[in-house]
Amino acid sequence: MSAHKTLDDLFTAVGLNGLRILVRADLNVPMQDGKVSDATRIERVASTLKELAGRGAKVIVLSHFGRPKGAPDAKYSLKPVADALAPFVGVDVAFASDCVGETAAKAADTMKPGTVLVLENTRFHAGEENNDPAFAGELAKIGNIYINDAFSCAHRAHASTEGITHFLPSYAGRAMEAELSALDAALGNPTRPVVAIVGGAKVSTKISLLGNLVKKVDALVIGGGMANTFLAAQGKKVGKSLCEPDLFDTARHILANARAANCDVVLPTDVVVATEFKAGAASKTVPVDAVPDDMMILDVGPDTIAHLAARFETAKTVVWNGPLGAFEVPPFDRGTVEAARIVAMRSKQGELVSVAGGGDTVAALNEAGAADDFTYVSAAGGAFLEWMEGIELPGVAALSRR
Ligand code: AMP
Repeated sequence: MSAHKTLDDLFTAVGLNGLRILVRADLNVPMQDGKVSDATRIERVASTLKELAGRGAKVIVLSHFGRPKGAPDAKYSLKPVADALAPFVGVDVAFASDCVGETAAKAADTMKPGTVLVLENTRFHAGEENNDPAFAGELAKIGNIYINDAFSCAHRAHASTEGITHFLPSYAGRAMEAELSALDAALGNPTRPVVAIVGGAKVSTKISLLGNLVKKVDALVIGGGMANTFLAAQGKKVGKSLCEPDLFDTARHILANARAANCDVVLPTDVVVATEFKAGAASKTVPVDAVPDDMMILDVGPDTIAHLAARFETAKTVVWNGPLGAFEVPPFDRGTVEAARIVAMRSKQGELVSVAGGGDTVAALNEAGAADDFTYVSAAGGAFLEWMEGIELPGVAALSRR
C-alpha cells in the first residue's frame, strides 16, 4: 500500500458526483509569445483532472505562475494557460479571475459536474507564499476535498501546497502518486546495487545531496565540473578547469564518509580537454593525471564511459542528476549522451530501474534521445534535488497516511 493517500482511497471513501475537488497543479509552464511552449506539466496533470471530471466531480484547479510579488500582475495571469488546458482534458474549462473570495465562489457555484475551473494565480495573494492560515482557509472554502498533483511544488510549504491540507481531506493525484512511487523505487526501497550519477557544474550546489547519497547508494559516480574539485582535492592537476579549491576539505570529507558507508565513489579516469569552451573547439582525451596546465576538462573520456558501462551491467537501480560534461556544447556532450543511452537501453530491456531529474538533466537526456526509455524522468527541479538530499517535502508529508 502506498505510504500516501491516493485517489483510490478517495474513491472508496466517497462518491464524487457534484463534489468540488480542489486540485493543486503545477501550471507554471514555459510560455513564448503568450502561448504555452512546453506542455509537459499540463499533460502530466491532465490524467488526474480527466479521471475526476469523468466521475462527475467539479474540478477546481489551483496553481501559481511565475513570481508575482503577492499582488495581481497581468503578466503572470493563468488565463492563457487555462485556455491551453481544454484540449488536454477534453471537457469544458472555465477561468475565474481570483482564487479566493466572491469571484472564485461564484465561478464554483455555476460549475456543472464533470467540468473544470481554473482559478487565477495563487501568488497574487501574499498569503500564498507566507503560508498564511487565514488565506489557506479561504482557498479551502472553495472546495470539499483537496488533491495535490504538483510534486514539483511540494518542497515549498505554501498555502496551496501545505496550509490547505489542515482544512480539507487531502490526497495525492495520479502524477504525484507516479512520482512518489518512482522515487521510492530509486532511493526509498530500491533493488540493489544502486548507482547514483551526479554531475553538473559545481560541488557547492550539491554538498547535501552528495552527503545523503553516499549513505544510501552502493556506488556514486561523480562527473561534470564538480568531479574536477574531487580530482584536485586528491592532488591531481586540473589546469584551467572549473574547480572550487575552498571545497577541497568538503570533497575529502564526502570521500571519507563514502568509504565509511561502503559506497564506492567512481571518478573519471580519463577526460576530454580543450583550451576554449566553444562548439567544435580542438579537443583531446587525456588520463586524469595528465591534464595540461593551459587546458580545461569539459567531459569524461571513453575509458571512463567503459567503466560506467560495466557498472550499469550489474546495477539494478540508477538515479541520475546532472550532466557528466558541458553537454550543451558539442563535442563535450558525448560522455553524457553515451552513458544516458546505455542506461536507457538497459532500462528498456527491463534490466534496471532508472530515475532521473533536475533541470539540466532532463534537457541532456532529451538531447541523447534517452529520456523516453528511462523508467521515470521527473519534471521537477528544486523538489527533485531536495528529495535527493533526503529532505522531507512539506507538500508530500501532508499527504502521508500516518
Ligand atoms: P547543474 O545545474 O549543477 O546540474 O550544472 C549543469 C551545468 O554543468 C551544465 O550547464 C554543464 O555545461 C555544466 N558542466 C558540466 N560539466 C562541466 C565541466 N567539466 N566544466 C564546466 N561546466 C560543466
